[in-house]
Amino acid sequence: MRNVVKITTLFSWLDLLIPHYCQMCGALGGIICERCKNYNTLRIERLDPDDSAELANDLNLQKFFAVGFYSGPLANLIVLYKFHACRDLARPLAELLAGVLQQKQKLPDNAIVVPIPTVAKHIRQRGFDHARRLAVEFAKATNRGHQQLLRRKTSTVQVGSRQEERINQAAEAFELSPHVKIEQNATYILLDDVCTTGATLSFAARALRSGGAKTIWVACLARH
Ligand SMILES: [Zn+2]
Repeated sequence: MRNVVKITTLFSWLDLLIPHYCQMCGALGGIICERCKNYNTLRIERLDPDDSAELANDLNLQKFFAVGFYSGPLANLIVLYKFHACRDLARPLAELLAGVLQQKQKLPDNAIVVPIPTVAKHIRQRGFDHARRLAVEFAKATNRGHQQLLRRKTSTVQVGSRQEERINQAAEAFELSPHVKIEQNATYILLDDVCTTGATLSFAARALRSGGAKTIWVACLARH
């Protein structure tokens, strides 16, 4: 674990020293250049508002927001971020999501951003906790607080499992972190990268509700 921390620190320094090439068009500039921020992101396949409302209803949540469907440039960016250690993409991705959410809905002052806890094995493999980093950047972008309120009960990995099994696994997956206090009047925003069946989000919400949370929204980068 100590080595992982050291390597992570080294990467942070390298991020500052080495100029970025845009991850969407390859031009020298930001990790997403200004031109792509203005034009390429528009190629993202947006969700129908009715679809978002229906999904929130299905998951027994108050609201559901996503930047778009998991396809094209958005999917490419998420893959680069999660699996190719492009950790500086956390900020532009979080800002993109914050922009989409705030365009549709005013965020309550007492909103608290809650990341879906990452499987410990994945943090070791990738060298960073992608969900936590995204939550921190999203909280910064929206000027709200963030808290690691949930933790995983098991280390079961979902990839490759059938939907039925995934739901059963997710049911076991979360509990409230010890000594956390849920504010009944706060709006909790569960933050995730990709929503597939929604089972993970649904059970994360259940864990929050078990602690007394009343209002739970979901903000995720992409809907699969
Ligand atoms: Zn670009």
